[in-house]
Amino acid sequence: MTSQLAVELDQADVLAHKRQEFKLDPGLIYLDGNSLGALPLACIERARDVVENQWGRDLISSWNTHHWIELPAQVGEKIAPLLGAATGQVICCDSISVNLFKILSCAISMRPARRLILSQHDNFPADLYIAQGLSEMLGAENCELQLVNDPEIEGNITEEVAVVVLTHVNYKSGKLHNIERITHLAHEKGALVIWDLAHSTGVLSLEIDKWNVDFAVGCGYKYLNGGPGSPAFIYAATRHHNAIKQPLTGWMGHSQPFAFSKQYQPASGVQQFLSGTPGILSMSVLDAAMEVYAGVDLHQVRDKSISLGELFLALVNEKQELSSLILSSPAQSADRGSQLAFSHPHAFDISQALIDAGIVVDFRSPDILRFGFAPLYVSHFDVYKAVQVLAEIVSKKIYLNHKYGMRQKVT
Ligand SMILES: *Cc1c(COP(=O)(O)O)cnc(C)c1O
Repeated sequence: MTSQLAVELDQADVLAHKRQEFKLDPGLIYLDGNSLGALPLACIERARDVVENQWGRDLISSWNTHHWIELPAQVGEKIAPLLGAATGQVICCDSISVNLFKILSCAISMRPARRLILSQHDNFPADLYIAQGLSEMLGAENCELQLVNDPEIEGNITEEVAVVVLTHVNYKSGKLHNIERITHLAHEKGALVIWDLAHSTGVLSLEIDKWNVDFAVGCGYKYLNGGPGSPAFIYAATRHHNAIKQPLTGWMGHSQPFAFSKQYQPASGVQQFLSGTPGILSMSVLDAAMEVYAGVDLHQVRDKSISLGELFLALVNEKQELSSLILSSPAQSADRGSQLAFSHPHAFDISQALIDAGIVVDFRSPDILRFGFAPLYVSHFDVYKAVQVLAEIVSKKIYLNHKYGMRQKVT
């Protein structure tokens, strides 16, 4: 396969113009947008305006004049169409971890006769930690976390399960769950579902209203490009709004926070999921980042994501020198999200050598090399070049240089 094919695919790419909306060094190939999205130019402008003018000049009046108080709902409404969610069901706040604690707690209390939280062993560890913490807090007689292997999930959705908590796209392998099918099976047994959409939002075409999802959480800093530590979001289907009782009853979730009454009275709708004061700097930047999705058709994003992944895999497969890389993602693009994972005994050192060569990828313990494809700014030519460099690093064993073996705090 030659570079000509990549060039032709890029010429036919209807999303190619989107890359210019990002600040990206032309020499850099960024295949880690699934960990931290690139910086949209609109965010630079907004960050400056929020700091210099809104905070620096207009100070506290900005809560009203610049609508800071409405930001969580406003950003939620911008995220909603990417989820296939009608208005009034998505709110931007906190991190996924905190949001998961809130909705998991709601879901458990909505099924008081049941005590099982069902999830899978290789779910994102942070999600499991939250479920472990909550079940310890509620006590074994009220709540127990049941973990099963991926193929056993459906068979374990029984009438004892209160809530099924799963991540749509597995963070390591990229394997996709069928949300509609699992949600339907759970509902047949009277259980609720919570979907973690961290690696799905902004890159897969989702229909969570149509699929009858109960609750979902997702991330602002991955494909939504909201910046490091940008706030996450919660989706709660309208039909549950009156049954919700979320535990972090902070004043921003009060029906009238500025009445300063002594008694907590939850706001109606998704607003009740708010707890403390929103991080306005970060949330404003995420709000600006959402501009890059205006007018974008997620089917086109998904098509390009598949095209990038298939090209990458075809290039790897045709190179004899890359036969030591073992695919740990599903081989069919319909079964995976926007990433490819390979295992290799020197995965960490290879990732460092790639980064050194200007190709940013990541490593997941113990032996996974992960390549993420953010279709709004990654090109087919990027993919072509990345595999060429990867082949050189592996065939010449460049990764054995001891400088690539040093692990820092964040890998
Ligand atoms: C990135 C990610 C998170 C992040 O959680 P935070 O609490 O927002 O840091 C959670 N779940 C999954 C599946 C993720 O990939």
